[in-house]
Amino acid sequence: MIKQINHVAILVENLDQSLTFWRDALGLPVGKTENNPGENVNIAFLPVGDSEIELLEPISTDSALGKFLAKRGQGMHHICVEVDDIEATMQQMVAHDIQMINDTPKAREDGTRYAFVHPKSTSGVLVELYELPNDA
Ligand code: ZN
Repeated sequence: MIKQINHVAILVENLDQSLTFWRDALGLPVGKTENNPGENVNIAFLPVGDSEIELLEPISTDSALGKFLAKRGQGMHHICVEVDDIEATMQQMVAHDIQMINDTPKAREDGTRYAFVHPKSTSGVLVELYELPNDA
């Protein structure tokens, strides 16, 4: 049911500056990059084995991520666990009295479905559940 860590997301003030560690010093390749004006964020994905480090750079202080950065500073934002059946996993969360942020899965353009688990229920870490499109 749980497949792997899909990605670990890190909130950064400046993508280029952050890459001086992740890319230049550590030597990770930069995979996909994404400008997401809707979410007011620039994203760089750096593959690590079958998982990825996802660097999130908010480009507006008004966005949810921008506010999070202003309040909490840079650092770990969320960890994403890939599952084969997101509805079943969410039902399992509810059965264990785990608080979800999303009551129903949301969908990305590529068909990936996701939902967040509230940090109150996870020892303080925002957890994202992911079901990739071709896994049904
Ligand atoms: Zn994520």
